[in-house]
Amino acid sequence: MADKTILAIDQGTTSSRAILFSERGDILEVAQKELTLHYPHKGWVEQSAVDIWNDTLEVTKQVLEKAKTAPEAIGITNQRETTVVWDKNTGEPVYNAIVWQDRRTADLCKDLKGQGHEPLVSKRTGLLLDPYFSATKIAWILDNVDGARKKAEAGDLLFGTIDTWLLWKLSGGEVHATDVTNASRTMLCNLITRDWDDELLKLFNIPKSMMPEIKENVSEFAKVKDGLLPYDLTVGGIAGDQQAALIGQACFEEGMVKSTYGTGCFALMNIGRNFKQSQNKLLTTIAYTINGDTRYAIEGSIFVAGAAIQWLRDDLGFFKDAAESEKMATSVDDNNGVYFVPAFTGLGAPHWKPEAQAIISGLTRESNKQHITRAALEAQAYQTMDLMGAMSADSAHTPEVIRADGGLVANNFVCQFIADMLDVEVQVPIVAETTALGAAYLAGLYAGVYENLDDIKRNWKSDRKFKPQIDSDERKKLADGWKTAIGMVLSGA
Ligand code: ADP
Repeated sequence: MADKTILAIDQGTTSSRAILFSERGDILEVAQKELTLHYPHKGWVEQSAVDIWNDTLEVTKQVLEKAKTAPEAIGITNQRETTVVWDKNTGEPVYNAIVWQDRRTADLCKDLKGQGHEPLVSKRTGLLLDPYFSATKIAWILDNVDGARKKAEAGDLLFGTIDTWLLWKLSGGEVHATDVTNASRTMLCNLITRDWDDELLKLFNIPKSMMPEIKENVSEFAKVKDGLLPYDLTVGGIAGDQQAALIGQACFEEGMVKSTYGTGCFALMNIGRNFKQSQNKLLTTIAYTINGDTRYAIEGSIFVAGAAIQWLRDDLGFFKDAAESEKMATSVDDNNGVYFVPAFTGLGAPHWKPEAQAIISGLTRESNKQHITRAALEAQAYQTMDLMGAMSADSAHTPEVIRADGGLVANNFVCQFIADMLDVEVQVPIVAETTALGAAYLAGLYAGVYENLDDIKRNWKSDRKFKPQIDSDERKKLADGWKTAIGMVLSGA
């Protein structure tokens, strides 16, 4: 009998992908389509919701056509917070999808903060009052698209994050639902009741009739409409991208951390069954709810991770391929006092200085490209160190292991330096596609491919492990240098 397979749909900011996984988590087939981002005004970022759906359907069909047998179920993971509002009668979006990066509602958020609403928002949702999340994006559409508010009040408009939009389309307009992790990023979900919060809906002036049903991560979300795909399939699992990666990395124990190093870096720590508001400017979010068991996570993001390497490659021409950075960094003994704080777009957690600017400090006549490259790679570890410091303070857990993924973990120097500076073991899994894998695991749990989370834990296999190799004196010396550099950035020197 052929091995069981699971189909994951991974709808990301830059591409839509479908991946067919084996039961063991091996990738069998992949199809991918790049997605265009539109920037109609400064700070505005949009995508065509219609393209998102068409591309997703296309890649899903492509993969299923290559599949030898029907997959057991479909799992969906998606870019979070991105907001779609559509007419439930016509199925047409009333506006483009407003992407998570969009800052058009900054003034609205500022006003609401000024009126003293942030403490309530944070207490209920675990988030900060920021344009990043869906709530003010929905409000903007209702207030700026002709006739939208009237239609919404008449019950004709629906809101969804991308998971919800895809589910609605896959079900032929039958199902309007989301999962707890996506809901927890809208700034409208009460993290304790795991339901829409009436007071927050009122604050943001959003009719409740627009909101999808919130379901656990492993649920019978929807049967795919007859004839849409080559097989009869059910969507059995959904999670937002970062939570899906946490699941794909099998971080099911309290205190376990996954850190994804792509263009930026997103780290999540599983903090167990109790909701806890961050005291250190991090976000609290739902990690997952499976079989009635809810786990929370603290999340922190670093705006610039791999983007600093891209900058050295594309703007300074230091190397042609990002992979060369490793050889350059290890061709010198140390950073020679050079530190690179890549605050190109301000500083995220735990500093939250949107106006901060990047610096390269400690330059002397001896400094060269190798030192600067090394400093850019080292910065990945220093930034993680600052983030973990805040996470540990919030959670009372000091991680002993970080499970890392994303494009940058191809770089062994970076992985080793994170291990050295944080005094942790860095583990890189064999299956690097942890986000899609997490969605596949959820769907596999639904379909009975996996009985429980222990089955998934056993599936996690390490490709490389890095243990700390420097002593505490050296660690302190390097960390002090970083503190000086970041101090210059924070003071605007
Ligand atoms: P995203 O999902 O955000 O598009 P990826 O996970 O694909 O990002 O990672 C791409 C990033 O990783 C790029 O910024 C690139 O510069 C960086 N990167 C890829 N390979 C290496 C490497 N070997 N060394 C250093 N940086 C790398």
